[in-house]
Amino acid sequence: MSTIFSQIIAREIPALIVYEDDQVIAFLDNQPVHLGHTLIVPKEEYENVFTLPTELFAHITKIGQQLATVIRDVTEADGINLYMNNGAAAGQEVWHAHLHVVPRYVGDDSYTAPVRATDVSKETQQAVAKRITEKLS
Ligand code: AMP
Repeated sequence: MSTIFSQIIAREIPALIVYEDDQVIAFLDNQPVHLGHTLIVPKEEYENVFTLPTELFAHITKIGQQLATVIRDVTEADGINLYMNNGAAAGQEVWHAHLHVVPRYVGDDSYTAPVRATDVSKETQQAVAKRITEKLS
């Protein structure tokens, strides 16, 4: 059975896609730590870093670097976390490798006590996805 992220790649379920090429797709997390929280996902299904081909991992991180700057600028974040959860003990919930790009703000408590934004409307998510896509092109 395909993962939820493969269903997004196949357009079987909706997502706010901000970037796509032949190897990866990037879309907004639907339970963002902060507005602009984005996931970069390989189109081929690999569970996590332990099975991901090195060159594909390198491509994901390259796109992560580009998105980090764009998302910081669009969200006016003070910083960006780039991270990957690999294995249940590390907090992995979706078994399809992905890199998180998370805007961070001075004084927020998201690292020590991760909370998900509850006040982000669909319209706000759509607007920020549009701005990220525009800024990438
Ligand atoms: P992880 O704990 O690293 O496996 O993170 C999985 C992430 O996927 C979480 O941040 C979820 O909010 C996110 N997620 C799960 N389902 C969807 C979905 N349908 N669209 C966007 N993000 C999702």
